[in-house]
Amino acid sequence: METAASSAAELRTPKAEVLAIGSELTSGQCLDTNSPWLSRKLAEIGISVRWHTTVGDDLNDNLQAFRIASERADLVVSTGGLGPTLDDLTRDVLAKVANVPLELHEPSLSAIERMFAQRGRVMPEANRVQAYCPRGGIMLPNEHGTAPGIWLETPKTVFVALPGPPREMQPMWEHEVVPRLRQRFGPTGVTIHRRINTFGWGESQVEEKVRDLTRRGHVPEVGITAHEAVVSLRITARGSNTEEAWKQIEPIEKVIRERLGTIVFGVDEEDLHDVVARMLHDRRMTIATAESLTGGLVAQMLSRVPGVSDNLRGGVVAYTNEVKRDWLGVPQELLDRYGAVSSQVAEAMAVGCRTRFGTDLAVSTTGLAGPGGGTPEKPVGLVYAAVAWEGGVRSSSFLWGTERTQIQGRAARMALNLARLYLASQLP
Ligand code: ATP
Repeated sequence: METAASSAAELRTPKAEVLAIGSELTSGQCLDTNSPWLSRKLAEIGISVRWHTTVGDDLNDNLQAFRIASERADLVVSTGGLGPTLDDLTRDVLAKVANVPLELHEPSLSAIERMFAQRGRVMPEANRVQAYCPRGGIMLPNEHGTAPGIWLETPKTVFVALPGPPREMQPMWEHEVVPRLRQRFGPTGVTIHRRINTFGWGESQVEEKVRDLTRRGHVPEVGITAHEAVVSLRITARGSNTEEAWKQIEPIEKVIRERLGTIVFGVDEEDLHDVVARMLHDRRMTIATAESLTGGLVAQMLSRVPGVSDNLRGGVVAYTNEVKRDWLGVPQELLDRYGAVSSQVAEAMAVGCRTRFGTDLAVSTTGLAGPGGGTPEKPVGLVYAAVAWEGGVRSSSFLWGTERTQIQGRAARMALNLARLYLASQLP
């Protein structure tokens, strides 16, 4: 690990800035997906993005944004503003920032004319501006649209201007930009991310266990994020090659798993429903769901996994007490004595569901998603989930969250997590 860390530090690490251009972005009408995509792609080739800037279609604002970026970054990658209309300013801005004139690039003009001809149209005069390149720049062909990209170097900064539409930008990135970046910046190494996903503890509880690993300057870097009650540890390792980066990740992942134990359920993009579906498949077991406050969400999440039809038999949305009683066989006496939001009813729902569907397992949820209906004894956010198997049932509860969909999402994951914990003890 020492060797990997020190050689990683020795690598030259260019600083990059991503500039998203367009008033449709700053006005909130279009979501900027290009910047996160480019950040991930740059990380893959070892270039770390230090800044994201979004700017509308205004000449002065763009000039300012490009100048600021060029002062602090070695590489500035922009998207948008390369179209044929007056509000497409990126070409002019690049020329002004580099202090060079725009020149007509004949091969680009021919390519744009060809593209129109293929669609049976004559190129409108307005599109001619797209064939202009700042002197010293390189035009990057666009296989899927009319706007060529531009590669332009000044003594301090490399500028890469790409078209806005992702379907034009992404292939241009792969085919035209990545090879040039590798050549220009040399071996910048690779960055690998590994996410360890946990469920069951809060973010601060997890953090307490791994505080020494998350401190600033730790190699590899470890960060904590929480999303829909899944708390993830994100390990970021840099190395001169993939193998070297993995060598940093493996021992840290092992330490994290040892410290956090059974709350670790998966890695990277895996969510609880993926893991439960896989475990059911491996053990050739079946499941059914009985859902009150989640309204079918548990079944819906499981149904996202291809091939789950061998394992997911069905589910009941048991919203009212009558459905809980008549469809799932929850005794009226339990409903009267403990109320629908109780561990007793959650467990009876799971047991009844398992019998009704004839499955190996059944999970249930019941609770108060709000906003109305809470009492001091049973406030909004109180949720019970249960899992039943042959000869057994187990439930757990939580009181957390204030917003309806947030409470529902967490309750669904809680039910899936109970199924996971049960399945983990049933080795194939
Ligand atoms: P074109 O030649 O297609 O006009 P352009 O480079 O001028 O390309 P823009 O006009 O700025 O690109 O944007 C065109 C469309 O591309 C936008 O309407 C939007 O749908 C999409 N787009 C632009 N920027 C982004 C972004 N950052 N993230 C996602 N989509 C984007």
